[in-house]
Amino acid sequence: MTNDCGPTDTPTDIDIAALREKYRAEREKRLRTEGSRQYLQTGEQFSAFGEVDPHTPYVERDSIDVDIDVAVLGGGFAGLLTGAYLKKAGVEDVHIIEMGGDFGGVWYWNRYPGIQCDNESYCYIPLLEELDFMPSKKFADGAEIWQHCRNIGKHYGLYDGAIFSTQVKDLRWEDDIQRWRISTNRGDDIRARFVVMGSGSFNRPKLPGIPGIKDFEGHMFHSSRWDYDYTGGDSSGGLHKLADKKVALIGTGATGVQLVPYLGRDAQHLYVFQRTPSTVDERNNIATDPEWVKTLQPGWQKERQRNFHAWTFEGMALGQPDLVCDFWTELGRNTAARVLALPDPTAMTPEQFMGLREEEDYKVMERLRRRIEALVEDPDTAEALKPYYRFLCKRPCSNDDYLPTFNRPNVTLVDVSEAKGVERITATGIVANGREYDVDCIIFASGFEITTEISRRYSIDTIKGRDGLSLYDAWADGYKTLHGMTSRGFPNQFFTGFTQVGISANIAANYELQGEHIAYVIAEALSRGITTVEPSRQAQDGWCQTIKESYIDTSAFDAECTPGYYNNEGGGGGEGIRSHLGEPYGPGFYAFGDLLKRWRDKGDLEGLETT
Ligand code: NDP
Repeated sequence: MTNDCGPTDTPTDIDIAALREKYRAEREKRLRTEGSRQYLQTGEQFSAFGEVDPHTPYVERDSIDVDIDVAVLGGGFAGLLTGAYLKKAGVEDVHIIEMGGDFGGVWYWNRYPGIQCDNESYCYIPLLEELDFMPSKKFADGAEIWQHCRNIGKHYGLYDGAIFSTQVKDLRWEDDIQRWRISTNRGDDIRARFVVMGSGSFNRPKLPGIPGIKDFEGHMFHSSRWDYDYTGGDSSGGLHKLADKKVALIGTGATGVQLVPYLGRDAQHLYVFQRTPSTVDERNNIATDPEWVKTLQPGWQKERQRNFHAWTFEGMALGQPDLVCDFWTELGRNTAARVLALPDPTAMTPEQFMGLREEEDYKVMERLRRRIEALVEDPDTAEALKPYYRFLCKRPCSNDDYLPTFNRPNVTLVDVSEAKGVERITATGIVANGREYDVDCIIFASGFEITTEISRRYSIDTIKGRDGLSLYDAWADGYKTLHGMTSRGFPNQFFTGFTQVGISANIAANYELQGEHIAYVIAEALSRGITTVEPSRQAQDGWCQTIKESYIDTSAFDAECTPGYYNNEGGGGGEGIRSHLGEPYGPGFYAFGDLLKRWRDKGDLEGLETT
């Protein structure tokens, strides 16, 4: 909420050449030849990790046999925001089909103890002004965000016609009825004129393919399917049933960092199996100041999102205050201070800028490492917790209780970096570094399918467009879209996500921009009596070419990072570095938004063939 936010104090007594070498060694140590194939799909064998909904009991229902205008697949931010904009555009017959028992997506599924947003909620939570809602603090609790998702559903009438606890299995375009035919695990036959793919990015939990994972006879679950019957308590903690349990936590990403303080407090013993440490800064989670709220003018949220984007994604925003002013924007601020200290900042070359940023990066990371030394008593544990990679190689975290939890006598950090992960799971425990740890319960905070093939991420058995063309085949050698949202051969189908679009640092802002555009096209098609829309070959080829030419290649940065989903597990397994951001439109998110707006303002649906 502050406007006078400057650079931070970071150590200058560092040896960059030595650190560069250390970063390289830490990366090499973790690189696995299996790449992303080291992970298992949850599927039938592991249905309790993915398919089964712990939050809503399964209730039998009659199958649905219906003709509708729009089916939106997914009820998280991607689907909700598209649904909201469809309603705003006057499209009434909208049906969100959702695997969970309610709206919310990640905020529906993820209810683990301590869940909070790691991005400032004033930027992250969409439609705050439209719904006249102000989050209670800078980093809102998951429950508050989930409630906001439901409020979006209510506000825009999206509960009417929503189809929950239902998984789409098969999606086919049928030329004779000029509709998409949607089959589900409930035996539904839904015929929709338009289909929007809104399954989001964190919809499929993934499991490490650790040998013996099927042999464990204790209790296991994934963090996004929290089992409170087993642990007791709720998302605010109080996991009293763990008082006599030895618990293993696998994963120290954003989820693991939030979990550790709660598990450490309540479990008889907690073993944290860490392959790569996260960066963990102070949280400074302040309550929303009502006086600040009174000062906000209409349009404030979009302005704040833009400011955050500039200070993170674009590197810095000279001449603008850093409105968010937290650990996400620190590197931008520190770099900006260096730039402003140059004799002539306007004469700076891109190479000079990258050089200054890299130096500041080493200093920020060193600050974070020294913070660990100050907070963690045991020097070996402190050393193991230190992240040796560049800022934004992994998603940065902030948490005031994470590091001190390792000072508790009932908490043990097990560094499994040398073995590239946990070695083996037995009937009674976990083997790591040649030692077996007996545990009652294993919790996998092992993340989600983010960079795997779309067939895994959508997990819809068949998606067939015109003439039986499979989407999975059509995109096997690369995405082919117009504006990332439509694809030739797939009439009346719309895509959301990170495919050939301009990308914002704020995930929900991406979905809002795309939802608005998709809603426009569908509303226009309906009002103009158009039956099908689909990009022309020429328009699609043109957009693919634009992406190719404008694409800013970050693979050099990604290739030097420790493996993780940001860099497709470091490109191990011959799969190559593939950024989790897909193939972005180079000029950026706001240029993309302007381009779409100009396209809509022209009103001729340029590049779309219509019948
Ligand atoms: P991540 O993919 O970030 O982390 C998975 C963790 O599991 C990593 O620490 C990984 O280690 C570890 N792991 C995987 N396989 C093994 C193995 N075989 N042995 C030991 N460890 C293993 O998942 P998260 O759920 O933490 O986060 C995913 C994303 O979800 C975040 O990046 C963020 O975008 C979002 N999120 C947002 C939150 C928020 O805003 N509040 C909270 C939580 C998540 P390694 O790093 O070595 O691969």
